[in-house]
Amino acid sequence: MIIDGKAIAAEVRAEVARRVATLKSRHGITPGLAVVLVGEDPASQIYVRNKGKQTMEAGMASFEFKLPASIDEATLLTKVRDLNADPAVDGILVQMPLPKTISESTVVEAIDPAKDVDGLHPMNAGRLSLGQGGLVPCTPLGCMILLAKSGATVAGADAIVIGRSKLVGKPMVQLLLNANATVTVAHSRTRDLAAACRRADVVIAAVGKPEMVRGDWIKPGATVIDVGINRLPTADGKGRLVGDVAYAEAAAIARAITPVPGGVGPMTIACLLQNTLTAACRRRGVPLPD
Ligand code: NDP
Repeated sequence: MIIDGKAIAAEVRAEVARRVATLKSRHGITPGLAVVLVGEDPASQIYVRNKGKQTMEAGMASFEFKLPASIDEATLLTKVRDLNADPAVDGILVQMPLPKTISESTVVEAIDPAKDVDGLHPMNAGRLSLGQGGLVPCTPLGCMILLAKSGATVAGADAIVIGRSKLVGKPMVQLLLNANATVTVAHSRTRDLAAACRRADVVIAAVGKPEMVRGDWIKPGATVIDVGINRLPTADGKGRLVGDVAYAEAAAIARAITPVPGGVGPMTIACLLQNTLTAACRRRGVPLPD
């Protein structure tokens, strides 16, 4: 089975839009997402534009703030604190990466945890590791939805997460543990990764190394979620996107697999919208609409 992330993300967005409409009609609440972009990184500009567009399509308010790369940390922290205090803002996302002169962790820690829709604040990371349900990072949340939609059995399964970043690998491990999988965490110092991978019923690849996971690393019948986005050079200069998994080889053996592009990628913004809706309801003390 090819897990169609594009279609599943569209379903999640439609579901969010439906709930936002209910929230508006029942409680007069319009959730708001503020995105702060520092500098002019072209990839970040595209992400921010897409986030704003999809936020509005879901019926939510979108606030965009573009700040020059030359600003200092104190100015950015003031902006974050203003957004913390703004009642119209339910979710705050500071687009990474930030200029080298600004500490990303200081900025993340300044965000009100109740508005931290990226789920990166230590309070939310801590809640996730305690199984207490704070706001969860969007990409791993998207992976869990893809697993569920593909019909994968997670409880009791052997899962491997390749990569241990704050953004993807670590929260992914916690989500799988909370869903009762037996989880192996692999990283650059793991010995015999191929053998560890071959034992896994669920493979989550979040490495950033093009096609590193080969077909013969996959256990027959496994479910493979490829988080990696890598651009390989092509003769026309446009480049070709590939994941961390050698797709054709792995697809021949896996039960289900996500393609790149069109797998995990589209889920990230869909889950950002879902987190914004969740944050809006929790902050304002109203139940999440059915
Ligand atoms: P990071 O670079 O932060 O982390 C990469 C992880 O992979 C590290 O834990 C590193 O180990 C591990 N690693 C590196 N080399 C190897 C190796 N040879 N064997 C095993 N593990 C290895 O990346 P991110 O987690 O931020 O992103 C991972 C990938 O996912 C990237 O391709 C990124 O573009 C993509 N991505 C996609 C998103 C989406 O929306 N689809 C969102 C976010 C990321 P160590 O800790 O030991 O250094």
